[in-house]
This record gives sequence, structure tokens and C-alpha cells, in this order.
Amino acid sequence: MRDHWLQLARHSPLGIVLDLDGTLVPFAPTPAEARPGPELLEQLDGLAAMPGVILVVASGRGRADLDAMFAGSERTCLFAEHGGWRRDRSGWQPSADVVTPSGIDELASALESVAAGHPGSLVERKDHALAIHARAVAAPGKAAWRGDVEAVLGPWLAAHPGHSRLDGAEVIEVRPSWMRKSLAVDWLRRRAAADLRIVALGDDVTDEDTFGALGLADEAVRVGPGAGRETEARWSLVGPAEAVAFLAWLAAVRGGAEPPPAALPVSLRQAPCVDDCRPSRFDLLAVSNRLPNLRSPTLPRDERRRNVGGLVAALEPALAARRGLWLGWSGRDAEGGSPGAVRLDEESRPAMAWVDFPREWHDRYYNGFCNRVLWPLLHTFPSRVQFFDEDWEAYRRANQAFAAAAFELVGADTPIWVHDYHLLLVARGLRRLGHRGPVGLFLHVPFPGPDVFDLVPWAEQLLDGMLDFDLLGFHTPGYAENFLQCAGRLIPSDVVGGELVHRGHRVRVGSFPIGIIPESFQDAPEPDEPDDIEELFGAIAPARLVLGVDRLDYTKGIPERLHAFGRLLERYPEWRGRACLVQVSVPSREDVPEYAEQRKLVELAVSRINGDFSDGRWIPVRYQYRSYRPHQLARLYRAAHVGYVTPLRDGMNLVAKEYVAAQDPADPGVLLLSRFAGAAVELRDAVLTNPWHVGGMAGDLDRALRMPREERVERHGRLARVVERSNAISWARDFICALEACRTDG
Ligand code: UDP
Repeated sequence: MRDHWLQLARHSPLGIVLDLDGTLVPFAPTPAEARPGPELLEQLDGLAAMPGVILVVASGRGRADLDAMFAGSERTCLFAEHGGWRRDRSGWQPSADVVTPSGIDELASALESVAAGHPGSLVERKDHALAIHARAVAAPGKAAWRGDVEAVLGPWLAAHPGHSRLDGAEVIEVRPSWMRKSLAVDWLRRRAAADLRIVALGDDVTDEDTFGALGLADEAVRVGPGAGRETEARWSLVGPAEAVAFLAWLAAVRGGAEPPPAALPVSLRQAPCVDDCRPSRFDLLAVSNRLPNLRSPTLPRDERRRNVGGLVAALEPALAARRGLWLGWSGRDAEGGSPGAVRLDEESRPAMAWVDFPREWHDRYYNGFCNRVLWPLLHTFPSRVQFFDEDWEAYRRANQAFAAAAFELVGADTPIWVHDYHLLLVARGLRRLGHRGPVGLFLHVPFPGPDVFDLVPWAEQLLDGMLDFDLLGFHTPGYAENFLQCAGRLIPSDVVGGELVHRGHRVRVGSFPIGIIPESFQDAPEPDEPDDIEELFGAIAPARLVLGVDRLDYTKGIPERLHAFGRLLERYPEWRGRACLVQVSVPSREDVPEYAEQRKLVELAVSRINGDFSDGRWIPVRYQYRSYRPHQLARLYRAAHVGYVTPLRDGMNLVAKEYVAAQDPADPGVLLLSRFAGAAVELRDAVLTNPWHVGGMAGDLDRALRMPREERVERHGRLARVVERSNAISWARDFICALEACRTDG
């Protein structure tokens, strides 16, 4: 952390943006009594005179006030009225290109009448804006003061839509909306070279605008109490005296000294807990876009559809063992434009919490940014990506809503485990709210290299948000390495031995290959009476069964797989009548046009092959547009001579592991696995194939179908050991251990 601040302090050009009241100067009962003393002015002058420094004081005060205080300080650039006016060496000028007249006079006189009735209240009139202060109003009278102010302000603002109000500490400010403190940041960027870095100090909500305009190489420091209010700042200083001491430290560093780090801002995550020390009823929170085993969490518990996928099987015991809670989106629409209240079911195992989202978020956040941008991009399908600014906005808002719900549900020190690409910005949101405990992300999809990831217009913001996690878990070392490369290239950070240090914060990046519960695919019970699977087996026999099982998604390479099967029948006619492909395609995202298109492509390929090759007895491809229960899948897997698992790109692919687990060790089938599935890293003893090369895949399929039993047994033995060892339970345990270690390591 010290190195981080030393680097920033020495950087040129360095912009320093300072708020005045509450940041450099303690509050006084009236604004007139709060002013910088001669020593502070001298200190600021000295700083402003240093080569490579541009010093800006951005205050809510009017021009006359600032002129009087900074009469002899010509080197300091002043922004008055929350950025409305700028004073540099050529004097005062409006700081925006378009300045709309304010018409605020009539409001000023109405508020002056209010102030007259409340001793201590004061209207501060500025050129375009005004502020009404309550700091000197006696505490018992403050509620009445607020009521009277609101009665005037509400109707006036409704009638003057070009204005906005800002509620500060003991003050309400009204100003034209174009006046923003961040105009000071815009001005700095125009004035300085592109590698300008900025450090901004502020205490109030009015400074959040400045903080929000900062870039990835800049830092925002909040002056004042550490918790309790949402902030864009990552750092904090206790009060004005500490802010002044920090500026002295900064000047000393630039002067060539290396003073002790006592005056440095502390990370808000380590700032003392002031008003947010809520005890937590839960010791671990998992957050995923959707709740795993609930179609609708509002249904009575026993009516909910049970899903026993690997994630649930892994997380359920982990959460149960730790008083855990699982939070997700209910999938239901909230009334109006904001998310609904957080709902909690503590009786279910694990305990579940959920939020309803506005209908628009389904289109813009889920179908939009998640599935039109992140899904194709992370799977390296850039030509399928579509960027819309509104989708990005909705993604940010939904992530903030997840963060707010999580923050509400658990204590500020509780570990939080976030899942997947829907929620890359949740840690940022949690930090903004003041969460201090470890937050980890496991990405269930691949992560591409910088050439692909850079295509996202918001790549830097996404990476910066991801670096607010303490732990980033990927399926494979290759994805982790890709992430490190992206982050290292796009934002200032140091990569040291698989860890990344960004803004002095250590982020562990590692691979945690997800597994399955192997036993659930072994010894599948035979049905009491023949079912449709039995009938399917009867129809296929004696041909060998080649089995594909996937969600119907373009990443799964189903048309390519079908073409390769067709090529096999062309090239190796001996398989005609002797091999049959059963392709199970689970309906997925049916409301999205690209998926409907994919379905047509699959159906076209199936009918072409069946049309070309079927004879009276034998149908080469049996296509099933449906899903099976896991115990049914286990029977299909076990009967298949080849597990034909050939995604074009896949984070892990659990079907590959399930296929291995389901085999008879004495006479196992062969796993034909895409080298672009994450599973290929562990399952080296599969027959690895390139699904983009139809001819090659046909050859590999032929080899798999012909493989002698001895080789099959050997390969399967090694594969089965991997699947046993690296399973769903060990995956959850390893991730949670690493997450908890983030807390103890600091
Ligand atoms: N699955 C299922 N019924 C089906 C087909 C698949 O329950 O008819 C399950 C399968 O057992 C596996 C999961 O869906 O656990 C698919 O996971 P995978 O990692 O292979 O792909 P994803 O769909 O997550 O991309």
C-alpha cells in the first residue's frame, strides 16, 4: 500500500483536487467562520508551486468567498459553486460551455422567509446556486426546519426541471444541473498530458461526483467517518487535520524525502466500523444470478422443482456447514423501475434470499449485457457480440442491486462467494457500500486473452471491478493466465506469482476446476418397467451408441458435431448401420433469436444426414429436443460406446466428467472430448479432438469407435481417478478455504 501511494505521489503530472469545507477546514456553525488559516494556505501554495503538480480546490462556495480566502494564491485553480465557475490565472469564467440561466432568485426569497422562522438557519446565495444551511439550528428544531424547507423546495424543483438538489451534511444545495464538481476533473484532463493521475479528497456527497469521474489510475479519498454512506472512494482519512497531514506527506515525497507512512489514507475496507457493526446471522453468503433449485422461490417449498446439478450438490453442504445463505434473482418482475425488497426463507436448506427485478432488466441486463456481450465474448465468439450502452447501464444497475441486497443480508465482515459472469461488478458495489469481509468470484465460463477481451468498450471498468474481489477463481490455469494478461495490460497493476496488486490491494487469482458428485452417475437404478430410454436402446441395437448431450447453445458445436458424424459415414462406410448418434439437446434461451436460429441449423443437419444415409432399419441420428433427469442420463451415458463431447468452447463441461463417472470400469466407453473444453485440461486421457475441423473429428470418432478394450480400460481408469479426486465437494471446499484465507492474510 505504501508503495502504491509513493508511486502516485511521485507521478507527474499529478492533479490534486480538494474539497474545502469538511475536507481541509473543519465545519463551523456558519460558513463565514470556517476558513483556511495562513499556514494551510502557505502549504497549499507550496504544493501548487511544485513542478508537475496542478492543484485544484473545488468547493460549493461562491466566487466571492473563495476570492477572499485565496487572495494571494494564484497558482491554485479554484472551482466555485460546485464547479460552476473556474478561477485560473486569467480570472473567473464559467466552467461549462453551455451555461443556462438559473432563475433561482424567487426560490432564494422563499427560502429566506423559511430561514427567518428558524433561528440559526441561513440562505447562502451564489451566482447560479443557493444553499440553505441548518448547522446552527438547534437540534430539536431541525425536523420542523426540514419540513418547511421541503414544502418550498419540492414544488419549486418540480416546476424547474433543469435544476437539482443535493443534500449535504446539514445543508441543502439547489443548482442548475450542469453545475458539477467533476467539471474540475474534466478541466484537469483537458489541461494535462494523457498520463495525468489524480488524487481527490472530499468529505461530502457533493464530492461523489468528482470521485465518480476519476479514472483507473486515480484515487479518491473520503475524509471523515469510514462507514455508513455509499461512496465511490476507496480510501479514507479521519478528518481535516489528517487530510492536511497527508498533503504534507505528499509534498515531502515530491520534494525527495521518504517520510513515514503514518499520514497515508487507509483503505475503506480497513477503516474502523462506525455505524455498521451489525452482527451477521449468516457466516457465508453465496450469490448467483438465479437461485439454483427454485423455479419460483415464492412457491411453497415442496412444490419447487429440484435441480441436483453439480453446483447445488457442491454448495448445499458447504453452506449448510457454515450457516450459509444463497441469494439470487427470483426471475420475477418487480413493479415499477426499481428492484423489489429482499425476501428471505430461512427454513429452506440452504437458506435462500431473492429479489425481484424490473422487467426491463430481464431484456437489458440478462438477455442484453450478460448474454449478448459477456457470454459470446468470454467464449471467444466476437462476431456474436452486440454492444448497447443501455445494456451496460442495466448491467451496472443490476450488479449494484445484487450488492445492495447482499450488503443488507449479512454483516460487513461476512465472506461472500459470487458466481459467474452476470455479477462481475458485485464486489465493487459491496465495497462502495462499506463491505469489509472477503469477496470471491468464481467464473463458470472461460476467460479469453486480451485481443478478445479488449473488444468490450467497458473492458477497463469490468477488469477494475473484478479487481475489487479478493479472490478470482477460474476453471483452468489458462483462463487465470488470460485474466492476468488482460488486467496487466489494461490497468495499472503488478502481477507477482499469480497474484495481482492493484491500488495496493492484493487479488488472488487461481484455478479451481469444478467437478461432479461421481456417485450420482454410478449404479443408476434400472426402471421398474420399460421406459422411453429402454425403447431407444431397443431401436438402436445392435448399432454402437455415440452420445451427445448439451444445452442447445452455439458454443456447444452441435451442428459441427453432426457434420463430423455425417463425414464419418461418408468416409468410413463400414459404420453405416453400425453406429447411431443420439443427440440430446436441452432447450435453452428459447426466446433469444440466435438460439432459435441454432435450433434450425441443428435440425437441418439432422435431416440432411438422416435423409442421406437412413435405410429401412437404421436411422443414423436420433435427435432429442428435451432434457433428461440425471439418473436417466446416467443410463444413457453408461450405454454409450462414445461420449461425444465436442463444444467449440466451454468453461469446463460437466457432461464429460459425468460420462466418465457412469462407465463400467470393466468395459468402458471412450470419451471423445473437445480440446477447447476446460475439462480437457484434467481429462488428458480422453481422445482429444478439434471440433472446428470436421474431417479431423470424423477421424477421431472412427478411432474412438474402434478402440480396443484394453486401451479403453486403461484410459478410463486414469480418467475416473481424476473425476473422483477433483469433485464438486473438493471444489467448494478449496474455494471457500482460499476465500477465508483472504481475511487472515489481510
Ligand atoms: N443435464 C441434465 N439433463 C439433460 C442434459 C443435461 O440434467 O437432459 C445436465 C448435465 O447432467 C450437466 C449439465 O446439465 O450436469 C450441463 O453442464 P455442462 O457443464 O456440461 O454445460 P452447461 O449447460 O453448464 O454449459
